[in-house]
Amino acid sequence: MPVKNMTKKQIQVFFERLREQRPNPKTELNYSSPFELLVAVTLSAQATDVSVNKATDQLFPIANTPEAIYALGVYGLKQYIKTIGLYNAKAENVIKACKILIEKHNSIVPNNRADLEALPGVGRKTANVVLNTAFGQATMAVDTHIFRLGNRTGLAVGKNVLEVEQRLLKVIPKEFILDAHHWLILHGRYCCIARKPKCNECVVSDVCQWPDRFEFGAAKSIAIKMLQDQN
Ligand code: SF4
Repeated sequence: MPVKNMTKKQIQVFFERLREQRPNPKTELNYSSPFELLVAVTLSAQATDVSVNKATDQLFPIANTPEAIYALGVYGLKQYIKTIGLYNAKAENVIKACKILIEKHNSIVPNNRADLEALPGVGRKTANVVLNTAFGQATMAVDTHIFRLGNRTGLAVGKNVLEVEQRLLKVIPKEFILDAHHWLILHGRYCCIARKPKCNECVVSDVCQWPDRFEFGAAKSIAIKMLQDQN
């Protein structure tokens, strides 16, 4: 059965609940500057945040500027990130990106999409994360969790990540847009997980449109929520 699009009212409730659950959502990547965030997000492609944090917790105290990481060179950088998947290519990209930052941007991470996407290893998703998290811009980075969540719940149905991104930017009320990316990722990572979504403990199960949610316990949580609402 195709999933129905959520209504405006349901979307409002969806984000109110996610906000209630996590009033200050944050990325789980450790960083303390736009440059550290850029490096961490670049390293996180097809790797877990935990594995990236383990590496950057060693790397950043030694080198956390474009000059310092560039000075490590590809080989030197690899020694810090070799526990992360695809580290060979990532090391080369980060060193090339550092060179461009030094030569073209005065070692400052640019706050616009075109310059970010011109950096090696930085695609649309990474640029969206940096623009949103480091510069407070209303962008939406669609990763595997958000793509699944958008399509499954009826929040933003789309055939590819760009369609889902554009739909999300259109339907999410302004008051939620800055934090929406983190709420959706965290909800997808910990509750609306790929194989066995925890619909029985989901705070948005009454507005979610996924027809199969009842098989995963949603009915019970909806009943509890209705009871709570009555009291
Ligand atoms: S009810 Fe289930 S499918 Fe719907 S958002 Fe919650 S966890 Fe995901």
